[in-house]
Amino acid sequence: MAKATLNVKEAFYTLQGEGARAGRASVFIRFSKCNLWNGRESGRDAAICQFCDTDITGTDGINGGQYSSDELLDLAQTLWGDLTQGKPYVVFTGGEPALQLTETLVSSFQKAGFECAVESNGTLPLPSNLDWVCISPKGTSEIVHTRCDELKVVFPQIDLDPEQVAHIKADYYYLSPMAKYGEGIGAESTGTIIRENMQNATQYCLDHPKWRMSLQTHKLLGIA
Ligand code: SF4
Repeated sequence: MAKATLNVKEAFYTLQGEGARAGRASVFIRFSKCNLWNGRESGRDAAICQFCDTDITGTDGINGGQYSSDELLDLAQTLWGDLTQGKPYVVFTGGEPALQLTETLVSSFQKAGFECAVESNGTLPLPSNLDWVCISPKGTSEIVHTRCDELKVVFPQIDLDPEQVAHIKADYYYLSPMAKYGEGIGAESTGTIIRENMQNATQYCLDHPKWRMSLQTHKLLGIA
């Protein structure tokens, strides 16, 4: 396999916290960097996405570093442990994983037995061989995908009404109440969900039954 250098902020074994696959054991690989924010507080006001509650810069998180493709697969296998237990599942996230994720990398994970999911802001092309695609539109950014498995809108967003992206075909449509940024920013990403946002998201789902509520259960559980 090619010796591409992959910049990984952190990688860990946990339960998927949100959406249709909440509760599933998963290896999370968080790639560094995003195309909608430079990750610095000084750049937040000018960013297209201004409410990120995750530290997306550098490679200094748990298991973070620069990896070749083979090394990253080795890490994921180590984190999963016994590959005969359940269906090994990896979630590529970020930052924006589309900046680094390739079909070759996805294929190598699949050959090793992993089911491969991605969580993306949807503004860039993604490998076509992914098993599960979750797109989370941000602000006025243009979504280049017309179909995904799961569409997840952080709610509310000043410049994005969920109906603006409801034309994107998906098996699941989720609202995720916006968490508070400014507290808990960092590798642990422990921002608290604002009660008012939760109530408004609840009302929106009641008024628009196409949409379901997605809570950040990993934060409720106190896990990464
Ligand atoms: S698109 Fe996602 S990773 Fe990028 S800045 Fe926004 S919330 Fe953070």
